[in-house]
Formats: sequence, structure tokens, C-alpha cells
Amino acid sequence: MRRATVGTVEIFALVDNVQAYPANAVYPTAGAALQTYRHYLDAESRVVLNFASFLVRDGSDVILVDTGWGPEHQGELMNELLEAGVASTDINTVIFTHLHGDHTGWNIDRSSGAPVFPNARYLVPQADWDYYSAITPPPDSFTRDVAPLERMGCIDFIGDGRRLSPACVTVATPGHTPGHTSVAITAGSDHGFILGDVCISPIDVEEPEWQSSFDWDHPTAAATRRKTLERLVAEGALVGASHLPVPGLGHVVERGSRRAWQALE
Ligand SMILES: [Zn+2]
Repeated sequence: MRRATVGTVEIFALVDNVQAYPANAVYPTAGAALQTYRHYLDAESRVVLNFASFLVRDGSDVILVDTGWGPEHQGELMNELLEAGVASTDINTVIFTHLHGDHTGWNIDRSSGAPVFPNARYLVPQADWDYYSAITPPPDSFTRDVAPLERMGCIDFIGDGRRLSPACVTVATPGHTPGHTSVAITAGSDHGFILGDVCISPIDVEEPEWQSSFDWDHPTAAATRRKTLERLVAEGALVGASHLPVPGLGHVVERGSRRAWQALE
């Protein structure tokens, strides 16, 4: 758990899990150019992915962005929330950047079948719901963690520009999935941005055009990366990114003609 602030808004980075994937599988078309970034890989040439959720506290609004891998992956999200001093009943909004299973894992209590965050509305990007609910059969995580919330009437479907609290508004960032959504935070002259999976490693920040095997549509994902990275530099935003190195907080900075990820000290 790591706390940071954007003006009066508190952000807690909550790490559910960490897992590594072979770099040449994540970036299947990068080839030898991957060697340029070996400082971002582990000793076995793997990309080490953090699996983080972010809690945003804006006055009386307590917003959880994504719910991690869940209990099947020995996820630590619930312990991280405890450490942040937040009870599951305190959260009034759960928002998903997208509906991949590593972002929806702690939605449903496995023994009772009830929502883990009983006082929350669960905000689901409409375009992701439309996409995943139309797959036959849907992904297991969708059936287990998302569809039951809809049957229980807990979901609100959202798009671009949905206001979550005085400081927080959604921004459509499609490409990783059809409805991928980020959260922009504005507090006075300070900016924050909960990025989701627009960039999943520091390599994406430096090579936004590289094809990532986790993206739904490469051209759309690359265009969103370019546009979003420009915004993050211009705003000097504190960024919370699901999969960037633990705890997943930092800034996008310009170094000469290139951009890079600078983790929070
Ligand atoms: Zn993810």
C-alpha cells in the first residue's frame, strides 16, 4: 500500500499480486529491439507486472478503481485496503477500467455470493459489457465476477465524461479493450490520472507504437497511448497505472525527445 495526494484528493495504490510474463510473448513483434529495454525486464527476460487497484478518496466519496485478480490468485487487495484504513463498507463507488479478469477478481464473496463492497454502485464501461456479454461462452471471470452484479441490480453502465466525485471524471481510453476507461482527477491546479492498462510496462511509455499481445485492437490502443501520454506530460499528472512497477504510481516525463516513466520516489 502506498498513499499519495493530488491536492486534497487521496490516492492509495493497493497491490493485489505481482506476476512475470516472457517479454517476447508480451511484445511479439518487437524482436531484437527488446534488448534496448532489458533494464525493465527481470533476469529471465520477463516483464514483471504489478496487479494494482487504486482507491481514491475525494471528500465523502470513496472510489475503488478495479478489484484485482481475486482470491484464486492469492490476491492481497483486502489486506491492502485494511492497511489503508478503509473498510469494504466505506466504498461507495467501484469502477472498472475494463472487464479483464485481473481487474474484477474481488467483486463477489465466494462463499456467500454477495457483493464484497455492499454499499457501492459498480460502474462498468458500456462498450466492455456489450463486447464480453456477446461472447459465447463469456470469459469465466465475466460469468463469475461481473454478470452476478448485473442480476443483483448493482451495476451502472458508463461511458466517457461520467462524473464520479467533485474531482473525478471518466475518460474513454479504448484499445486495450473496446470500452477501456481511465479516471482523471483535477484538484485546483493539481492533476492525477488512473490510467488502467493504457500502458502496462515502462516500455509502453517509451514505445507507444509497439504491439502488445494483451491489447484488443492495436491501432486504437496505440493511438490512445500517444494521446494519453501527451496529456499526462502536459498536465504533470500523478499517474496510477495498474501494471507498472509496484506500487504503480509515478509521472510520465520527457527526456529529450523521448518520454519515460518516472516512478514516485
Ligand atoms: Zn490488466
